[in-house]
Amino acid sequence: MANKVDKEKIQKAVKDILEAIGEDPSREGLIETPDRISRMYEEIFSGMEEDAHEILSKRFTVDNSEMVVERDITFYSMCEHHLLPFFGKAHVAYVPNGEVVGLSKLARTVEVYARRPQIQERLTAQIADAIMDELHPKGVMVMMEAEHMCMTMRGVKKPGSTTVTVATRGNFIDNEKLQGTFYGRVRNFRL
Ligand code: ZN
Repeated sequence: MANKVDKEKIQKAVKDILEAIGEDPSREGLIETPDRISRMYEEIFSGMEEDAHEILSKRFTVDNSEMVVERDITFYSMCEHHLLPFFGKAHVAYVPNGEVVGLSKLARTVEVYARRPQIQERLTAQIADAIMDELHPKGVMVMMEAEHMCMTMRGVKKPGSTTVTVATRGNFIDNEKLQGTFYGRVRNFRL
């Protein structure tokens, strides 16, 4: 989805950064880099202009209220502190209260919030809150596991370390039994 990224501004900024580190932005390998990055940023920050509430607006009525778990949703986001990628898996569950959404919409919701400058804690909370607000389920639980390039390629340099964040809403809050069911489904029942 196209958004209102100011490509010229990005191009100028990238050129400035290249010059600032002592590079020659006019050499062959770099000449098109500012343009490439401006187009790439349009894609990886496309969530800025999208609305998860719209994505979750098409709902279906159901009778049961069994937990729905969508696990291993691959996501890529950008750490807002370093503008470096963090990426991994999201696991999203909710207990319906009369309504469900198409499963692909859960993945789309993850994507909308991931494609912004983010911190993993807020990303996890925003996904949970969007589902809570739109579906009014009995509860929501979101777990995200990610590798942060700002942890692994610079600074403390701990390759392979992952950051795990969890958000619980509604009947998942302080409910060890329900949370246990979530963890069991995410961890144990691999196809
Ligand atoms: Zn960072």
